[in-house]
Amino acid sequence: MEIETILQSQRDFFKTQQTKNIAFRKMYLEKLRNLIISNENMLYEAIYKDFGKSKFDTFTTEISFILNDIDYYLKNLNSLARPKKVSTNLANQLGKSRIHSEPLGNILVIGAWNYPYQLSLSPVIAAIAAGNCCILKPSEIAENTMKAMSSIINKNFPSEYLYVYEGGIDETTALLKLRFDKIFFTGSTKVGKIIYKAAAEHLTPVVLELGGKSPAIVTKNANLEVAAKRIVWGKFLNAGQTCVAPDYLLVEESIQEQFLEMLRKYSNEFKYSPDAEQYTKIINARNFQRLIILIDREKIYFGGNFDEEKRYIEPTILHNVDWNDPVMQEEIFGPILPVISFKNYNMALNSVLELEKPLAAYLFSNTAEEKENFTQKLSFGGGCINDVVMHLSNDHLPFGGVGNSGTGNYHGKFGFEAFSHQKAVLEKATWGEPNIKYPPYSEKKLNWIKKLL
Ligand code: NAD
Repeated sequence: MEIETILQSQRDFFKTQQTKNIAFRKMYLEKLRNLIISNENMLYEAIYKDFGKSKFDTFTTEISFILNDIDYYLKNLNSLARPKKVSTNLANQLGKSRIHSEPLGNILVIGAWNYPYQLSLSPVIAAIAAGNCCILKPSEIAENTMKAMSSIINKNFPSEYLYVYEGGIDETTALLKLRFDKIFFTGSTKVGKIIYKAAAEHLTPVVLELGGKSPAIVTKNANLEVAAKRIVWGKFLNAGQTCVAPDYLLVEESIQEQFLEMLRKYSNEFKYSPDAEQYTKIINARNFQRLIILIDREKIYFGGNFDEEKRYIEPTILHNVDWNDPVMQEEIFGPILPVISFKNYNMALNSVLELEKPLAAYLFSNTAEEKENFTQKLSFGGGCINDVVMHLSNDHLPFGGVGNSGTGNYHGKFGFEAFSHQKAVLEKATWGEPNIKYPPYSEKKLNWIKKLL
């Protein structure tokens, strides 16, 4: 079926008001939950075919994530959707004021390939929890997972409610000509600009979940063992193809040698290898080529080997890196970790401030002053102190970028709000109204108004 026809059917369906019913939303959330569980093996196989992602990683970073999202909304939907009473100002007495969260209508979700299930379905779940109809366009780059999602959803959901549209750039370009009530995009900053421009034609609001160079700063006051272990895990998870992975490290000079050794130790201990269950492939040949060019062989501290046929790049740590090196000019999005040392903590923070606002930032330190400076001085989407990546697993925290790393956020109640309009309603009593605001005006009335307002 043509996508225009699907969208028109979704518009018509939204107008029937059925999606506003809370029981209807919950029924489909439960249905999606059951479908994910009953098709779990198919989902593992598809992602393994795409880029060798293991069952363990797929469960912990994708499937469990989506199931948690569904459970969150099943549990909290009644209270999220309930109109919220707010106080009423003097000029509107006798009246009552409420905020109604109403669904926006027809949503387009465009997903990225690196966590294909989570990044496609998590916004879809929030969109339908908020009472919308939705078209999902997953990333064509992870082709098998795209097909897995379309087969599960398109066979089991009415297309006038939720539909997965398979396609690449041409199909997305065509989709962007249509009018939606919100576009939720996850991907690169470059494509984010294309989405934003297309959305502006229809005055369509957007959430843009983009990327950037996310720093991790390690000071001499950190628990170095813990820092090294967590950084190695967060960086090489998914072979570095994680939007919130630490992109580069800033390490205090006095502990640099000691810390680099710890990074080596954990990289060895975690036993990453081309055929290991815990290590993922690079998604495609294009990204593989882009990444190996970033490995300056003179600066390898650890790793640097690769196997083109298996699209494997060994966890690689670069030292003596300079801010002007090619690896510092773009988001790496792969298993290469450049390390830059610093003598002065405040100057390290200033260097981060010179770059675009990142999606994430991390500090490893145990001193209150360093923690406070990090939080106050730097602007970033979200981040952690003494950990990496894990902030996005707390659905009480909003997840999203700022500036070049995106606009808007989601997860938990923030996801519900991203797909809702906050409709203001003032309900007035029809008795007891003074004539003071009505013409004919007089000096006396104005003096009263001045006193009251
Ligand atoms: P991408 O921007 O290349 O693609 C994302 C989506 O846009 C895909 O569905 C693709 O089909 C579509 N697309 C690509 N080119 C297009 C064009 N010219 N016109 C219209 N649509 C187009 O991104 P990617 O390679 O899938 O993902 C990598 C980037 O995404 C990294 O920068 C990463 O940091 C970022 N990312 C961000 C988050 C987040 O939550 N903020 C999560 C994952 C990835």
